[in-house]
Amino acid sequence: MSGALPQFIDVERFAAKRERIEGVFAVTSLDRLMQMAATPDGEVGFALAFFRDDQGRSRVTGAIQGSVMLTCQRCLQPVRHELAGSVELMALADESALSDLPGDVEPLLTEGQPVRLADLVEDEALLALPIVALHPQCSPPSHDKSGNEDGNPFAVLKRKE
Ligand SMILES: [Zn+2]
Repeated sequence: MSGALPQFIDVERFAAKRERIEGVFAVTSLDRLMQMAATPDGEVGFALAFFRDDQGRSRVTGAIQGSVMLTCQRCLQPVRHELAGSVELMALADESALSDLPGDVEPLLTEGQPVRLADLVEDEALLALPIVALHPQCSPPSHDKSGNEDGNPFAVLKRKE
């Protein structure tokens, strides 16, 4: 299992062959996640198993785990967020089959095309991000260069975002 990861995945074929893949993407290689990140540090590990369920539908189950540096919305400093999420996907060629989706499964719209592995993993990582990132124990810096933070107009502006 030391071979290079496939760039694209044919979910139907992978499911038929019960493929399993695992690997790691650096945050820097995931553009959308990188846009949310405070620093380039971090990575997203994944382990995915492809299978056909008892109705012959192509499914993906697995997990992501990693970390990404976000911006604490209280002190505006980087905060490490531990990413962890389970993956439960069902391949759908188009949205007309959405109503067939089991309740605990997310759709993976393939339009009959191979799926880019990095996109799949990145989508799951984005879902695992918090709505608001905060240090678990955070107090705004009291020794700011400009003195009292309440006197810093930029700090006020940023807080209102
Ligand atoms: Zn903070």
